[in-house]
Amino acid sequence: MTSFLKKVADYTREAVDAANYLAKGLSVTFDHMRRRPVTVQYPYEKLIPSERYRGRIHYEFDKCIACEVCVRVCPINLPVVDWVMNKETKKKELRNYSIDFGVCIFCGNCVEYCPTNCLSMTEEYELSTFDRHSLNFDNVALGRLPTSVTTDPSVHPLRELAYLPKGVMDPHDIPSSQSRAGKLPSEIIQQINQESALDKTTKNLSNISAAEKDN
Ligand code: SF4
Ligand code: SF4
Repeated sequence: MTSFLKKVADYTREAVDAANYLAKGLSVTFDHMRRRPVTVQYPYEKLIPSERYRGRIHYEFDKCIACEVCVRVCPINLPVVDWVMNKETKKKELRNYSIDFGVCIFCGNCVEYCPTNCLSMTEEYELSTFDRHSLNFDNVALGRLPTSVTTDPSVHPLRELAYLPKGVMDPHDIPSSQSRAGKLPSEIIQQINQESALDKTTKNLSNISAAEKDN
């Protein structure tokens, strides 16, 4: 009897959970149904990529130590590190470095693991070419500073939906001077640092008061 009741309770809980998931899914669908399509007049208007966007990789030749970590962590061993051993100094001499963006999957592993931080992901996403071989960037092309949607005077930058104030669907509806929704990563880090400093101070004060009580 007890096992039967347990089965009924489990079944009821699963049915309620399933109904909840269904309702959540449909709420997203209905939320999208009331949105109107937004047309971005590319290339005169461009959406601002998010702060953590993984676009074209930037490379700093002077910082590279030719360790080839980027090659080992790349899922397709893509970066080509061209170096020679200098027999006199017994050190590696870097000659060239290249990444083929026609093959790269922009996973960011090389950027994550580079010990000297000479690689970084940029917000550059316009990589279309007539010839796929021109996507093989050498160290000069990789070292070029990325273009930015917000600093290009010929482009009207628009915010993505995630960065619009609550209730606004169309980025054309808001003036560019209006503050963005959410915080910048730098602001979040600053807030975390302030909170941890406050925590430390509170802990120190409580330790001092506990010590005073003991005495
Ligand atoms: S991991 Fe960084 S330092 Fe090492 S070879 Fe690659 S780019 Fe150069
Ligand atoms: S982003 Fe990923 S696929 Fe592209 S070079 Fe780096 S590790 Fe390789």
